[in-house]
Amino acid sequence: MTVSEFFGRFFLVRRCASCRELLPYDKREEAFCDECRMRWNVEKTQECKVCGRSVCECICMSKVLSGAGALCHHKVVLYSSGNPVVHNTIMFIKHSNNPRVTGFLASQMASVLAADKDLPELGAENCVITFVPRGRRALVENGFDQSELLVRALSDKLGIPWARTLHRKVGGREQKKLSATQRVKNVKGLFKPVEGLDKIVGGKRIILVDDIVTTGASMAACLSYLTRAGARETVCLSVASTQCEKK
Ligand SMILES: [Zn+2]
Ligand SMILES: [Zn+2]
Repeated sequence: MTVSEFFGRFFLVRRCASCRELLPYDKREEAFCDECRMRWNVEKTQECKVCGRSVCECICMSKVLSGAGALCHHKVVLYSSGNPVVHNTIMFIKHSNNPRVTGFLASQMASVLAADKDLPELGAENCVITFVPRGRRALVENGFDQSELLVRALSDKLGIPWARTLHRKVGGREQKKLSATQRVKNVKGLFKPVEGLDKIVGGKRIILVDDIVTTGASMAACLSYLTRAGARETVCLSVASTQCEKK
């Protein structure tokens, strides 16, 4: 922890998740300053090049995800490196355990789901929320798993229980350094189901969450364990996603 982080925590200084400007006192519960919030809202309405809908309404999936039998893939915003508000926010939740920002992103994900009238019923009785787990190295470095934090917050908002369903095994190469085909190979055997997975997911609809989805290889690998353990439909949900490939 740096000195400024220490004092930041001590005095509860609230900063914008994207530009890191101090938030004014009356905006201290917000995730963003006004300007970044405006940019975030613009990002949500970017048009998906495949289906033509706004990103926050788009359900397009990567080939790997549809191949694994996912029902749809909802996302709030598109990720690209020339897009600072999305990139900074993803980095922010990766490195700081901040309930204000995680809570904001969870409510954004919840409203994306609520707006989709074609989804099957997702309720406390028939549904479980779970997530793609981080590697141990990331857990040791940061002390938390940002997707688990997102899922806990989302569970509160939706009133649907959450559960850890998978562990990531030690070893394996970092996905972000690999090509699409290498990623699919690399994730094989990278996850391990928790004990009694069939009792957690059997007959249930699943909301499978990750902070960012690129090729969908990790998510697809997790999904196949859930399906094998008896899960019904799986709705994939992420804060950000790279642009889907054309069919
Ligand atoms: Zn800002
Ligand atoms: Zn789309």
